[in-house]
Amino acid sequence: MIKIANLHKKFGRNEVLKGINIQIDKGDIISILGPSGSGKTTLLRCLNFLERPDEGIILIDDVSIDSKKVHKKDIYNLRKKSAMVFQNYNLFQHKTVLQNVMEGLVIVQKKSIKEARVTAMETLRKVGLEQKADAYPLQLSGGQQQRVGIARALALNPEVILFDEPTSALDPELVGEVLDVIRKISREGITMIIVTHEMNFAREVSKRVIFMDGGVVVEEGNPRDIFSSPKEERTKRFLKRMT
Ligand code: ADP
Repeated sequence: MIKIANLHKKFGRNEVLKGINIQIDKGDIISILGPSGSGKTTLLRCLNFLERPDEGIILIDDVSIDSKKVHKKDIYNLRKKSAMVFQNYNLFQHKTVLQNVMEGLVIVQKKSIKEARVTAMETLRKVGLEQKADAYPLQLSGGQQQRVGIARALALNPEVILFDEPTSALDPELVGEVLDVIRKISREGITMIIVTHEMNFAREVSKRVIFMDGGVVVEEGNPRDIFSSPKEERTKRFLKRMT
């Protein structure tokens, strides 16, 4: 359902992605692990063309883009397939929680205000924040803000939710509530790609773990195998440091 083929991306002379190939089935939860600077965020951003790849093919559902022949309309169609949860939440500070969740429904999906409000409230209920619908982001804790970020992505009902280190900006005591929400929605059968440094969480929720280093996929497999008997030296070293 998602296919990344021969993906390359350079920033200047820095080749950050060096030919990535990944296939993901519908409903799968994939964690991407790896040291800082290995290209994980860039890979996620290429999936929705927030970064434009230099080479390679991205396919999500029925939309496929070859980086060599890109049309604006393809990018638009591709972006509708995914929703991103950002490290720093990326909420509109001057909009309420409810307005933040409604925004994409109204602007991108062209839903009526009434319909968008119903969907947004239902989704806020799922992340336990319906009481905060009229609050502004700055009145919330970091954990609550990130739960709004998740609600905003979830409300769009995308083919895939891309999580870019969703808990790394949080104080340790707030990490749990965000992971609980992700855990809960992971049971709904939504395809998710999660870049994370939370090893126990990755182990618990993922169907498959992908370990990246230096712009390549070094190793991938089911979490039990990767965590208990990694094959590659780089994976072993990384896991030793992280666990
Ligand atoms: P990770 O998510 O694994 O930490 P990133 O994808 O964020 O890795 O970054 C990989 C490399 O790409 C780093 O060397 C980073 O400095 C570089 N990089 C990322 N984004 C940009 C950018 N917009 N411009 C220039 N270099 C970038």
